[in-house]
Amino acid sequence: MDKIFVMNLGTTSFKFKLYAFDDTQPLVLAAGELESIGAASSAYEITYPDGRSHKDHAPICDHGAAFAHCFCILQQDGILRDLDDLTAVGYKAVHGGNLSGTCLVDDALMAEMERVTPFAPAHNPIYLNAMRHIRSRFPKLTQVARFETSFHGSIPENRVTYGVPYAWKEEAGIRRYGFHGSSHQYISQTVAKLQPGARKIVNCHLGGSSSICAILDGKSVATSMGATLQSGLFNNNRVGDFEVFCLKPVMEHYGYSLDEALQILSKQSGLLGLSGVSNDLRQVMEAADAGNTQAQLAVDTLCDNILGYIGMYAAYLNGLDALVFTGGIGTNSHVLRQKVCENLGYLGLRLDAERNLRRDDGIISSDQSKVTVWRLKTDEESVVAACVYDFLHQ
Ligand code: ADP
Repeated sequence: MDKIFVMNLGTTSFKFKLYAFDDTQPLVLAAGELESIGAASSAYEITYPDGRSHKDHAPICDHGAAFAHCFCILQQDGILRDLDDLTAVGYKAVHGGNLSGTCLVDDALMAEMERVTPFAPAHNPIYLNAMRHIRSRFPKLTQVARFETSFHGSIPENRVTYGVPYAWKEEAGIRRYGFHGSSHQYISQTVAKLQPGARKIVNCHLGGSSSICAILDGKSVATSMGATLQSGLFNNNRVGDFEVFCLKPVMEHYGYSLDEALQILSKQSGLLGLSGVSNDLRQVMEAADAGNTQAQLAVDTLCDNILGYIGMYAAYLNGLDALVFTGGIGTNSHVLRQKVCENLGYLGLRLDAERNLRRDDGIISSDQSKVTVWRLKTDEESVVAACVYDFLHQ
């Protein structure tokens, strides 16, 4: 039986799921989360499908140490025998540049990830660090990366191309790549099972980081993020689409360096920057309800952004069979779903107010709606695990 350990890494966080594959369905053997890597003490929790859990603190210096720590606990708890019991580790890696799909982590892969680090400066270094640490501590362990750009390889060339000098595209890779591929792929596969015959799908992955994807016959044909994760929808604290020619006047007005201006656009903008309240939509909505007009503007702008992409993608798809809301915001905020959907009547879409309050996965549109609207929890790790399994068995 193959066992695959899938990692989803943040700057100071480490999430994993351990899967076992037999001939039928993959099984989750354990899931865990570790916070505050690099601090004096990191809190962690590992849970098992039978309800058992392991919650504690430990000093964890880097992502390699986080893996080693979780591995030890899984051994103590009888889930993994030894290193030979683990077939591979799989990464939900972000930007692979010219590499896409599922690839073995080797020197060439790491060099390519390094090369495109300027396109994903907040993500690629973390993954590269983890890959290097794990390779040095566990040299025999197979490491496999599934890139978040992978699902978007099917987007037509005219839609991944910016209006820049042609040489920029060819020589410097200035083109749209798209991200959140594992989530969009999971939703595409899930809708295919739940609503057979739905050919034209728009998936709204709305969370700490957000993107929207147009899917035709199971393939991505457009997505809102571009060459970097900064573009498209405005995110919790990232700007999203922004007029590049504003950079110079902003820098001159405030005396910012380019790095300072970019830092503000990527860390202190979006919901946080616009509302001045928080990067958490719950708090921004609360402030808006209490009469904070800036917070109200942030909520309205986010909803309008989402609506605009849905409209554009309905045009690209020449119609819509299914609209999906996923991610922390998409699954939890019935208010946001309501606000977005109330302007989609022209597509024959009708939200059912009562169904929209549901807290589980399912349909939230009315029986009369021409577009089926879904609230679905995403499962990115299961896509990475399945891709790694297929890669190892191809
Ligand atoms: P990540 O992209 O980091 O994985 P999630 O998809 O878990 O994040 O989404 C987290 C975000 O979901 C939080 O930042 C919060 O703004 C938002 N969120 C969670 N619950 C709600 C809710 N009830 N209403 C609005 N936003 C919510």
